[in-house]
Amino acid sequence: MKWEDNVRKVVPYVAGEQPKNKNVIKLNTNECPYPPAPGVTGLAQEMDYSDLRLYPDTNATPLVDVLAEYYHVKPAQVFVGVGSDDVLATAFQTFFNSGKPILFPDVTYSFYDVWADLYKIPYKTCPLKEDWHIDPEDYKQPNGGVIFPNPNAPTGLLEDLDTVEEILQANRDVVVIVDEAYIDFGGISSLSLLDKYDNLLIVQTFSKSRSMAGLRIGFCIGNEKMIQYLNDVKFSINSYTMNRTSQVLGVEAVRDDAYFKEITGKIVATRERVKKELTELGFVFPDSKANFIFASHKTVPAKEIFEALRAQNIYVRHWNKPRIDNSLRITIGTDEEMDTMLEFLREYLKER
Ligand SMILES: *Cc1c(COP(=O)(O)O)cnc(C)c1O
Repeated sequence: MKWEDNVRKVVPYVAGEQPKNKNVIKLNTNECPYPPAPGVTGLAQEMDYSDLRLYPDTNATPLVDVLAEYYHVKPAQVFVGVGSDDVLATAFQTFFNSGKPILFPDVTYSFYDVWADLYKIPYKTCPLKEDWHIDPEDYKQPNGGVIFPNPNAPTGLLEDLDTVEEILQANRDVVVIVDEAYIDFGGISSLSLLDKYDNLLIVQTFSKSRSMAGLRIGFCIGNEKMIQYLNDVKFSINSYTMNRTSQVLGVEAVRDDAYFKEITGKIVATRERVKKELTELGFVFPDSKANFIFASHKTVPAKEIFEALRAQNIYVRHWNKPRIDNSLRITIGTDEEMDTMLEFLREYLKER
């Protein structure tokens, strides 16, 4: 068909499976196993839904304000979106227009190359080192921008602030995006570098550490001018991105800091225990600071373990991709969920 010549053809991102069956142990998309803050679920029940006839606040002002207060920045430094995927897509469109390739790791969040292709942004991937760490030297070549997650996904490895700063130092003339989707599980945020680097954009999400993947809330913090540019692009596509319910419940989630610290603390404790048990079972993995572990077994291929777990209704993530096809990304669930998985693995590996 002739019209197909003019279609914007893209190979879309493939999200982790959301099984219809409720009886699965779901460790495949890095969701939080605990419910959202009690204030959030309580408020959701009391909300006055007659307001839904009205458009939402285009700026999500109360949510922007509460985030600015929480992270000690000005409201003009905060931009919110429909999940951090929306924030990141808008940032790609806004900041990566130089014609030079943007740089990101070869093993990383698999949405980056999809957005680059969608927006026709050239890109070049930089191989992670043998130990899965980012090599800052790779980011000292001419480029149109830089993006990496910290901690990285799916490795879970955190880079220290010196490494982040070394990359920023070498890239003063382009925007550097640090995707901190997993920073709340024991990492140190790059927020303290914002005063020094006006080209730094930090992106975070409510989906993992705040247990609200279903509401789709993400945000970024950066220089005021950067946020203005992001808003200009956003208001050129769709002014009313974040719905009323998400705005109201998002504020409540930030207010309940004790609950936030409690659930992230629980996940960190479970993660550290699971690391020990996986090691005993013959798994090796980079030392994760995220809510997942990127593990491969010393003798049994990842694909086989993946399928054996799946047959038990235990879902983890596996990619048929170079470099990572012998690893499984296992989300940290509740202690009970992890015990069920570990118990099965113990028996399964014994019989092999
Ligand atoms: C999960 C994830 C996101 C996006 O999450 P949202 O639900 O869209 O906020 C972004 N970056 C990385 C690295 C992620 O793992």
